[in-house]
Amino acid sequence: MNKTLEEAALLMADLARLPTPDLVALLPHIRDLRQRIRERDFALGTPSQAVLEHAEAMATAHLTEDELRDYNARRRVAETVRIDGLICLECGEKKEALVLHVTKGHHMTWDEYLSKWDLHDLGDRFEELEDYPKVSGSFIARQRTNAKTYAKDNPLKYTGAELARYREEQKKRSSSS
Ligand SMILES: [Zn+2]
Repeated sequence: MNKTLEEAALLMADLARLPTPDLVALLPHIRDLRQRIRERDFALGTPSQAVLEHAEAMATAHLTEDELRDYNARRRVAETVRIDGLICLECGEKKEALVLHVTKGHHMTWDEYLSKWDLHDLGDRFEELEDYPKVSGSFIARQRTNAKTYAKDNPLKYTGAELARYREEQKKRSSSS
């Protein structure tokens, strides 16, 4: 069997093991790939908007109200959470500290934002999701780097050197008694 067909067979096996919501999420991409194969268009990139919309309509047509709600919540997460920023659902801008942008820029509380876009308690609602992040991964990483730099500049306060000295003294005291 040729390599491509072999991979396709493995792909089928992988797909067969996925839960329905994941299959629903993948449908646009699978459809897009089939469309491209028919058209001999192999410059694979982002599925075209029309194909996406059509596939989404097909994919969601049979969903119950609850399933559709879950589908939309998952989709919002997939479309807005990036390592280098979170895309604001109010205005479409990408922000590292979304929570600040929402409260200051759109005058909503974080709670109101989550309610409006149905993003509350994602960790409880979905097995594979965590609660919706307030800031991006890049923001957290930079905070950590800043904290490390700060610690380097202020060694006594933040590296625990004082704590180490204290422990050393304690040890001496206990061994001499
Ligand atoms: Zn915004």
